[in-house]
Amino acid sequence: MKSRRDFLQKLSASALSLPFIPSLALAEPEQGNELPYQGQVLRVAICGLGSYGTRVADAMQSSKMAKLVGVISGTPSKVKDWQAKYNIPEKNCYNYENFDAIKDNRDIDAVYIITPNSLHKPQAIRVAQAGKHVICEKPIAVNAAEGQAMVDACKKANVKFLVGYRMHFEPKTLEIIRLRNAGEFGKVLFFQGLCGFRIGDPNQWRLKKELAGGGAMMDIGIYAVNGSRYMIGEEPIWVTAQETKTNPEKFKEGIDETIMFQLGFPSGAVASCLSTYSMNNLDRFFLNGEKGFAEMQPSTGYGPIKARTNSGELTHPHVTHQTVQMDEMAGIILQGKKPVVPVDGEEGVKDLKIMDAIYKAVKTGKKEDLKL
Ligand code: NAD
Repeated sequence: MKSRRDFLQKLSASALSLPFIPSLALAEPEQGNELPYQGQVLRVAICGLGSYGTRVADAMQSSKMAKLVGVISGTPSKVKDWQAKYNIPEKNCYNYENFDAIKDNRDIDAVYIITPNSLHKPQAIRVAQAGKHVICEKPIAVNAAEGQAMVDACKKANVKFLVGYRMHFEPKTLEIIRLRNAGEFGKVLFFQGLCGFRIGDPNQWRLKKELAGGGAMMDIGIYAVNGSRYMIGEEPIWVTAQETKTNPEKFKEGIDETIMFQLGFPSGAVASCLSTYSMNNLDRFFLNGEKGFAEMQPSTGYGPIKARTNSGELTHPHVTHQTVQMDEMAGIILQGKKPVVPVDGEEGVKDLKIMDAIYKAVKTGKKEDLKL
């Protein structure tokens, strides 16, 4: 046992020093009697070293099947800090001007884009054209047409395109979906998704239309849009929406502060949702069927997620969402694993089609049809 571990540790060390080694087992041996993971590892570069990028990088240190090996950043001092903190070699560091050269880097399999929303599309297309798999944060783009262009570019380049929908791998969420599919709640008729936080600094990119693409809906309301689909388990066919603004100075034209929206589904189920930049601790999902309910609060934050049904509390242990997400995404990319709730680019486009229709419904005041 000891000699096997020694061998694997030596193998990991030598793998790190070889420039053209294919994806190998780089995970450290675990404590206890369990054998260390020996399969392929997804070698990831993060593009955009901001607050969420840092959270993903930290979480990935505990992933078994994904490893942070590179960075793309416009800030040299951050690159130096990340190199030291995460042991990233100089040859895997790029900036926004030169990162097309990643195509010649055989030590990077995928790029995880974690920059402001409107930058996702051009960056994802460049990554795809460099022949690397794309993982992209939500929203994948600022409208459905841009999202579709990203999907098309990834298809053309024959690379995978996944969206950072971390809740699609969260254990209590998956348990509620399992219970719903098993008929525990009866025919599902209603979903409520309330998503918001109180946004601070008025000068941040999230409040600039050209970088964010919109306001709270793009940033946090998307959780209610996406959640409506996976909690009800159908695709919506119509939407209505209403907007309110208490602070037009801070939330300028094109930046929504609060939007209420309703979605209708083919079975007759309806969703009633709220997206806002003006209320803290607003993070609640509620699903009701003819027989029973599921309630999650908090429902999409970093956790621990709390959930109960009419039969009682769900007690699944808390997991670090981004650690699990990266392991699962490595499984999807490297092994063709199929997640219970898909995380491919088309899912991101569907959410953007709904958000495009929400913005349209706010303007027209009418019920807008949806064709996903
Ligand atoms: P952030 O402001 O903390 O980081 C953004 C990074 O992009 C910074 O490092 C910044 O330097 C860089 N950047 C590159 N070009 C830029 C430009 N022109 N203007 C401004 N910054 C630029 O933002 P964040 O909170 O890390 O969000 C980044 C992305 O991650 C967004 O798309 C957001 O929706 C998403 N996000 C997802 C989750 C989640 O739970 N899935 C959570 C937070 C953020």
